[in-house]
Amino acid sequence: MDFVSRSEWGAPSTSPAAYLASARGVKVHYLGTAYTSRAHEGCAAYVRQLRAAHLANTAENYVDVAYNLLVCEHGTVYEGRGAHRRSGANGSATLNTAHYAVCALLGSSGLTEPPDAMLRGLRDAIDYLRREGAAGSEVLGHRDGYATSCPGEPLHAWVRAGAPRPAGPIPAPDPPPDPAPVEEDLMPVPEVLLESLPGGPELPAGEWLEVPAAEDTVVLRGPCVYAVTATVALTGVPDGARVRLRFSHVDIATRRRYRRLAVDLPQRAGEVTGQVSASGRLPRGQYLKLQALAELGGVSVSHRTIEGLYWPEG
Ligand SMILES: [Zn+2]
Ligand SMILES: [Zn+2]
Repeated sequence: MDFVSRSEWGAPSTSPAAYLASARGVKVHYLGTAYTSRAHEGCAAYVRQLRAAHLANTAENYVDVAYNLLVCEHGTVYEGRGAHRRSGANGSATLNTAHYAVCALLGSSGLTEPPDAMLRGLRDAIDYLRREGAAGSEVLGHRDGYATSCPGEPLHAWVRAGAPRPAGPIPAPDPPPDPAPVEEDLMPVPEVLLESLPGGPELPAGEWLEVPAAEDTVVLRGPCVYAVTATVALTGVPDGARVRLRFSHVDIATRRRYRRLAVDLPQRAGEVTGQVSASGRLPRGQYLKLQALAELGGVSVSHRTIEGLYWPEG
């Protein structure tokens, strides 16, 4: 078994997740996003990136990467929360207490078929949780007991077959472990986003308007992981008129919009300044946009600042 501990891939050595004495078994997950097959040198960086994205996910309020173990296409097992820690990936506190969560670095597009080396690694991960984490004999997919397509059909077929260790040549002896990452390499370095622009459009009454950023209405292009805040100043707000701000993800091809939570600005006549924040993962083929809505006419954007960090992917 090729096992990479948390400190070896650049996470704090123990997970802050809740203690779990034992579990009925293991649930298998996949990424459910686009994932490109890569050289093994890039796998640890992807695990670090995934942890950063989970920590940036304020909706789920994760304390750590959500999975107990992660397995790359080359069969290496990365320690996530580890054994005897409650996962955050199975869908609810009850489900997270019942089963450990093991995630294959396998996509819903790109790399979608688990190579034998990955299946061996997943089998190693399941055996490890039985040995080190008092996991019972159940092996299920995330979709078993929860409404999701995870872990995808190819991996779920393997789970239904009893998660067999693939036959075939004895795997080559373990490669030497990756050198411990140097301090500067603990997390991918983010890009800084900072735009501060005077002026702006008038808002049509009762309609969400995309607020222009520096060049057009695109704040960020996927794929990336981001955490951004917009500060928008408005003038001409009529007494009692509701003004709202939100971020949304817009699919470039279909124009479909995935809205983030909207915030209401303080209800005040005249000049009002409000803030909205968003964080998460912006998939390939999607834009992040900022929108504003005024219930009544006469409201204009007088200044907008967009600041934050993002980690380009892929
Ligand atoms: Zn899942
Ligand atoms: Zn790998």
